[in-house]
Amino acid sequence: MQGAPQDWPLLVHTILDHAARWHGDRKVVARRADGRIARTTYADVHTEAQKITGRLVASGLAPGERVGALCWNTDRHLSLWYGVMGAGLVHHTVNPRLFEEQISFIVNDAEDRIMFTDITFLPLLEKLRDQLTTVRQIIVLADRADVPETSLEVTAWDDWLDGAEPHPWVSVPETAPCGMCYTSGTTGLPKGVVYSHRSNVLHALGMSVPDVLGLSARDVVMPIVPMFHANGWSLAFSAPLNGTALVLPGAALDGASVYELMEDEGVTFSAAVPTVWLGLFKHMESTGQRLSSLSRVVIGGSACPPAMTKKFEEIYGVEVLHAWGMTEMSPLGTVASLLPQHDSISAEDKLALKDTQGRVPYTVEMKVTDDENRELPHDGKTFGRLKVRGPAVAGAYFKNAGAENFDEDGWFDTGDVAHISPDGFMKITDRSKDVIKSGGEWISSIDLENLAMLHPDVAEAAVIGVPHPKWDERPLLVIVPQPGAAQDGAAILDSMRPHIAKWWLPDEVTFVSEIPHTATGKIQKTKLRDAFQDVYKGAAA
Ligand code: AMP
Repeated sequence: MQGAPQDWPLLVHTILDHAARWHGDRKVVARRADGRIARTTYADVHTEAQKITGRLVASGLAPGERVGALCWNTDRHLSLWYGVMGAGLVHHTVNPRLFEEQISFIVNDAEDRIMFTDITFLPLLEKLRDQLTTVRQIIVLADRADVPETSLEVTAWDDWLDGAEPHPWVSVPETAPCGMCYTSGTTGLPKGVVYSHRSNVLHALGMSVPDVLGLSARDVVMPIVPMFHANGWSLAFSAPLNGTALVLPGAALDGASVYELMEDEGVTFSAAVPTVWLGLFKHMESTGQRLSSLSRVVIGGSACPPAMTKKFEEIYGVEVLHAWGMTEMSPLGTVASLLPQHDSISAEDKLALKDTQGRVPYTVEMKVTDDENRELPHDGKTFGRLKVRGPAVAGAYFKNAGAENFDEDGWFDTGDVAHISPDGFMKITDRSKDVIKSGGEWISSIDLENLAMLHPDVAEAAVIGVPHPKWDERPLLVIVPQPGAAQDGAAILDSMRPHIAKWWLPDEVTFVSEIPHTATGKIQKTKLRDAFQDVYKGAAA
């Protein structure tokens, strides 16, 4: 039909075009991996991104090929993010907190051709280099003078970009892939989630509106959540889309460093998992310092404890947006924003609403079902499997891993168990799998159990996540010893230590005579969690 609007493709680099053209002077400040502060603007980031595009085009990579990044949140990572996507390639953020076997698996599975890295991760790459069979070149996000001694063959950032000129973005359709992030759940190997230009643009628009994050050009946004975690919560898109200033904290995520940068740069809005906020509270409580500019924070990745919301809002005057999401959802699923009918409810009732994971934006469809896929009522108490679909929800995993999580109508089974209230507030009550979430990162209980079972003194092992004042949850290893065997927890942990990342190691081992089982022989983890829920209560926050 004539008179139709233009077919204007939704491409992520148009977000940076907009920011550079209409908010070009807005600051992008970063603490780089070496600790130095870099002061740039959206115009600078745009120029550097197009130089990167030029270099990548010249390198001969074909559209859709993957480029890996082991990088902190910095101005250079932001340029790289757009430079790769603008070259028609796929920016694959690699989570350095995964353990080494997982990292080499995902780099090989994604078939990353070039690996960009901060200096922090050179020792890791030195260990893994021989296993990374698809990586042809390693480029360090540091000037040559600042690249430390390494056995790796690397190119420094300034050498790589020396003499480069800005290159036009490469033309791709809006459905072309541009980003990738792996999710590592309880079972099996990590699974790749692929984002398209269109899904990222729609997601960034969806999360910008007032009842979701409500970003504005008057904001100064500090994404503490790393860009390698769940699409960086999309802030590398939504901040330039709204022309907000950006403050990128690099590797220094401790309370004192976060506080200093926030205050120095007048940060108004920030995003992080609960563990990071505990660090900030601890710093402020020990120094008596206050927040002079921060007005809103989005907290997610694991449940935000009501005490955290209360402290932020009542003591520090900072509004809390409790959000739920997943790598598979780009990642935003819900935000606990109140509705007009809640204006008159008590402070306690408001806090209870913010303890839920909240309501969906326009871009997310959500339902809870029973095991037979029958939709359950929104009564605030009937819980079931939480399922979602939408333009920024994964339609499949890379290489079709985990196909059982997607049904024929496009619904993705989140693996979370939840109920929905008549007002549409979703509350997660459990996880259908028993993954442990420590400091916002997954720990697989099954992997730990399998390792413990290798020890000759162990007859049966179960690992559960136990609430922890600092890390949200920490693993507890519960063991039934072999008859007559020594009950030496330290020896068992020592036998597991070489095979896992340090932070995966259970904090404690408990010996029991019997582990409860279901009729079908599965360990009843809910019973174990009830029995041991207070084990880490007195641990240091
Ligand atoms: P990831 O993809 O690593 O971000 O992990 C996604 C999972 O983290 C979700 O399926 C939830 O189990 C959990 N999660 C994320 N946000 C929240 C939240 N606000 N409350 C409770 N669980 C959460």
